[in-house]
Amino acid sequence: MLTETTVPSAAVTGGEPRGNLAAGQAAAKASATPAAIVQAPSARSANYRQYARDWLATNLPSHMRSDAADYRTPTLAECQAWEAAMHGAGLAGMTWPKAYGGHGLTIAEHLAVNKEIGRLLMPESVSSIGKELAGPIIMTVGTEEQKQRFLPPILAMQQFWCQGFSEPDAGSDLARLRTRAIQEGDGWRISGQKIWTSGAAKAHYCLLLTRTGVVADRHRGMLMFAVPMDTPGIRVVPIRSIDGKESFAEVFFDEVVLPDAARLGAPDEGWSAATRVLAIERATNRMYRAWRFEAELAFLVRAAKSDPRLSGLLDGGLAGRIGEVVAQIDGLKGLVERSVDLLKAAQGIGSRGSLTKLYWSECHQAFAGLARSVVAHVRPNSSPLARRARDYFTHAYLFSRAETIYAGTSEVQLDVIAQRILQLPKE
Ligand SMILES: Cc1cc2nc3c(=O)[nH]c(=O)nc-3n(C[C@H](O)[C@H](O)[C@H](O)COP(=O)(O)OP(=O)(O)OC[C@H]3O[C@@H](n4cnc5c(N)ncnc54)[C@H](O)[C@@H]3O)c2cc1C
Repeated sequence: MLTETTVPSAAVTGGEPRGNLAAGQAAAKASATPAAIVQAPSARSANYRQYARDWLATNLPSHMRSDAADYRTPTLAECQAWEAAMHGAGLAGMTWPKAYGGHGLTIAEHLAVNKEIGRLLMPESVSSIGKELAGPIIMTVGTEEQKQRFLPPILAMQQFWCQGFSEPDAGSDLARLRTRAIQEGDGWRISGQKIWTSGAAKAHYCLLLTRTGVVADRHRGMLMFAVPMDTPGIRVVPIRSIDGKESFAEVFFDEVVLPDAARLGAPDEGWSAATRVLAIERATNRMYRAWRFEAELAFLVRAAKSDPRLSGLLDGGLAGRIGEVVAQIDGLKGLVERSVDLLKAAQGIGSRGSLTKLYWSECHQAFAGLARSVVAHVRPNSSPLARRARDYFTHAYLFSRAETIYAGTSEVQLDVIAQRILQLPKE
């Protein structure tokens, strides 16, 4: 139940008709420029992080850095080209097997690269649902044919995914979902409604969670599908959020007919597949967050120092609050590194994902509020950097309202921590 993309909705909905792969292919082709000629060091290299740092510094266009004076909002095609270039250079799909377009590296290199991605305020992925949620679950429950069909185009930025889990009556309590899948001959007939589906307007496929049994069975009788978004009977109705963007949508399924090949996993495997997706989403998705948070703080301080009206605020009492943010960032880094250690030791993260999700979302929301209170003092004659910071942090502030909701609300994470980590009794 991830959110997706910082690209404005006009670029997303206007630039890429659903089901049209041509734009993605063109973008991937365009990206064959510097990335393709850069050789990634081997997995054993101790210098993967340095390699990533150098490559990103050389190849990230200045106008795509949110803290650069010449920043301009990138188009969807530019984001596709950039992410395809990163993949070509060995900085995406790192832990995926080479047979499916990945680089066959380890979670340690993945973390090293994410630290460097976080250091630069580059556009957030426009395909994180595909790369971080759909891809891993297809790798776990998909057939060989599905892995070959879906995984390479996701990494090549030729195929976007959305996640159809939440429904109007099933959010925190996902087991209440009602979207029905009825088996008919060799295929399935789907009817129902999803909501808050991020990136649905640009998605080629939906990772759809459906019910084959009765609602009273809760976690039993669920089935996951890979649904082509251009299948007849699917209707996407965009929803506008507080920041003015239309990055999520309602998605209606009206007697949508699918072949059995669209099924992901065995009948009745839907709930366990969905909980694996949620665990990834809470624990390891966008692993760069702590390092990006640090880069944001550095940007805020740099922008404030560039303008006399704002620099006074730093002297006048904000220093203590900024110190708290520094400590929180360190805490978050520790949580992420601990999760990576557990994964390296082949241990599951389990409920610890809830700790990380609760911590990053609450800390970042509080920081965004602090940043907003600083940039509220920016005037038309303020320094260019201060004006850039005002635009960036105003958006960050508005978006941060959603951070304690998507991927499970704070209350739900607290519930998980109370019951599964602390083993407290249910009231
Ligand atoms: C920006 C954004 C993007 C999203 N993207 C996606 C997406 O791509 N795909 C997708 O499927 N979903 C997506 N979601 C939906 C998201 O997962 C749900 O909003 C979330 O799970 C909460 O569900 P709900 O909105 O139905 O709220 P509800 O579950 O109705 O909760 C309402 C309130 O009640 C509280 N509450 C509920 N249960 C409990 C409990 N047991 N104990 C204490 N308090 C409780 C909640 O914390 C909340 O404050 C997105 C949401 C946002 C904001």
